[in-house]
Amino acid sequence: MKIIGNIRQAIQDYGSITMAQFMSEAMYNLNEGYYIQQDPIGKGGDFITAPEISQLFGEMLGIYAVDSWIKLGSPTKFNLVELGPGRATLMDDLLRATKHIKEFHQAINIHFVETNKRLIKFQKQRLESYGINYKWHNSVYSLPNNLPLVVLANEFFDCLPINQYIREKDAWYERSVTLNLQEYNIIKTVIPSTLSNSLNTEHPNSNDLSIVEICYPALEIIRHLADIFKKTSGYLLAIDYGYDINPLHRTSYNSTLQAVKNHKYHPIFNDIGRADLTAHVDFFSLKKSAKANNCKTSGSISQGEFLKNLGINIRAEMLKRNANLDIQKEIDLGQNRLISSKQMGELFKATAIYSKNLPTPLGFEASALISNL
Ligand code: SAH
Repeated sequence: MKIIGNIRQAIQDYGSITMAQFMSEAMYNLNEGYYIQQDPIGKGGDFITAPEISQLFGEMLGIYAVDSWIKLGSPTKFNLVELGPGRATLMDDLLRATKHIKEFHQAINIHFVETNKRLIKFQKQRLESYGINYKWHNSVYSLPNNLPLVVLANEFFDCLPINQYIREKDAWYERSVTLNLQEYNIIKTVIPSTLSNSLNTEHPNSNDLSIVEICYPALEIIRHLADIFKKTSGYLLAIDYGYDINPLHRTSYNSTLQAVKNHKYHPIFNDIGRADLTAHVDFFSLKKSAKANNCKTSGSISQGEFLKNLGINIRAEMLKRNANLDIQKEIDLGQNRLISSKQMGELFKATAIYSKNLPTPLGFEASALISNL
């Protein structure tokens, strides 16, 4: 496989590369990166996502999007942005569920941020029938900043490369990868980091072998969207598996980097470019970056709580009323997978980031009020 040849050569040329550079090469190598070429989602792919589990997910996000549009003042035009739309199932369910709200549909310009050529083709075909304006972007940096926006990101931030820092006594090292020249295989190593002082201060409860992960691209994306929110105004909703812990209270520090292939965990250095590599999303850092850039934030709350607040149980009952027994079971199963704490309900979290002048978005209102009791 060419990418392995390339990446090994690159590692040999440099001596070592950081874990973030390795992830970036494996995921975004222009010829053979995983998020450039593979069709990763669904039974025939490597993993399954919430919108693929049940139409209820996209429908609930439709309700969230309509309410956000109303909170933006029901503008006659706005940009509905999705980061990493995958098989466009979320958007399809969102648009179908909100079709009857004519002013909302007429106001929508859709902007997709997507790197995967195969998925872009698929997304185009899937959404043709709605007669809405679509545009595709390779990154958030070409998104327009002329209109208010509602941004949705489900399982997007976990894709982005992370840097990993490991503590040894009071010094921190950066996790890197190098080549074992005898067997020509990729192995882990460390290089000294210049961040020791700041990491020691920011993570006072860390100790020997603690690992801190920083996702610089995610922080940059938040900063950029916050800049657009300042000019226009907007809501971002991010749902992902991750953690939201203030480092001052944090006690456990492990690597969350994982590879998945064919719905199973996979060794990180095997099948480079053919297996998904992800890391848990650090919501606390995303929110910190947003607040430092003049935005408000809500959450994180669990995906289960968020979907229940949006009315998933009521919608499931409605769908079941017109369904036969088999379909009723399917609806129950999907609903349960999305909200049960034993399944996706607890590990997955929802966070909103939005302009200072806007009210708390739907789904977060109750928890915001309760946290003030
Ligand atoms: N949101 C979809 C897909 C999640 S998988 C769902 O819930 O089903 C991650 C998606 O993000 C894929 O569509 C992948 O191609 C895309 N992606 C990954 N990294 C990206 C990046 N840096 N920029 C844009 N899209 C990216």
